[in-house]
Amino acid sequence: MVQNAYGYGLFTGGLGAHYGAERLGATVIPVSGGNTKRQITIMRDFGSTVLLSTPSYALNLADAMTDVGVTLDQLKLRVGIHGAEPWSVNMREEVERKLGIRALDIYGLSEVIGPGVAMECPESDQGMHVLEDHFLPEIVDPDTFEPLPPGEQGELVFTTLTKEAFPIIRYRTKDLSRLFVEQCRCGRTLVRMAKVTGRTDDMLIIRGVNVFPSQVEHVLMGIEGVEPHYQIEVNREGNLDTMDVLVEVSEKIFHDEVKVLEGLSRRIQAEIKDLLGVTCTVKLVEPRTIQRSEGKARRVIDNRRL
Ligand SMILES: [Zn+2]
Repeated sequence: MVQNAYGYGLFTGGLGAHYGAERLGATVIPVSGGNTKRQITIMRDFGSTVLLSTPSYALNLADAMTDVGVTLDQLKLRVGIHGAEPWSVNMREEVERKLGIRALDIYGLSEVIGPGVAMECPESDQGMHVLEDHFLPEIVDPDTFEPLPPGEQGELVFTTLTKEAFPIIRYRTKDLSRLFVEQCRCGRTLVRMAKVTGRTDDMLIIRGVNVFPSQVEHVLMGIEGVEPHYQIEVNREGNLDTMDVLVEVSEKIFHDEVKVLEGLSRRIQAEIKDLLGVTCTVKLVEPRTIQRSEGKARRVIDNRRL
């Protein structure tokens, strides 16, 4: 019983995942994105066992469950298949804990076929199986375009092998990943691609330092009491770039003493500085302050480009 919360329409996620799930013999609830409270009611009433959505929307659903008065034990949800935006390992843990499911990664892109170019198996601890009988993956250096050996990070490039009418040859995805050629624990020998850590074009350069939103997310998700909802705002004051990180904290922490909040801000700031080498301002905000997406999350507001 697959609840498909990807948007239906011209976005390939909706209908692509729909047809794929039907082909496997599953019943698909074409609920599409949005209308969050209704999603939860449907999840309970229909006994959905699989949720298809972006990872940020899965968390949005988890948070909204309290409002609807639905608890995890009323649901039959077992597994989530989440893609269409980069998400960190820590965010996966958050989704798994909050929804009581196994959360798996799926990868695809409209230019190649839509969803289903690569998919994680439940046993893999290292990436998603690329369906190599249809898609030939390569990793290249994004600057020189030279192919890189297995295990090295670079830009993912695809050639379609079976696609008709609109084949693509060595298509640059702008997604950053790595390829692993070792056999998976599940027995499959298909090459695996690492979770996409970012895009060559969503990389921010802040005071000359390369910053990926996923690195900030990695820091945040490792800190207790911090919610996986955040936004990075970049401004330019004079000739200097500034980075503000807006982070939601739990209700309990938000209403704690100022001292506690300040301590937490400082810790986040220090860990970001430590990992990225960039000084930022951290603003802790109340739960649900940051606008929720019903599709892909908007993580970065770069005012320098305006
Ligand atoms: Zn596997």
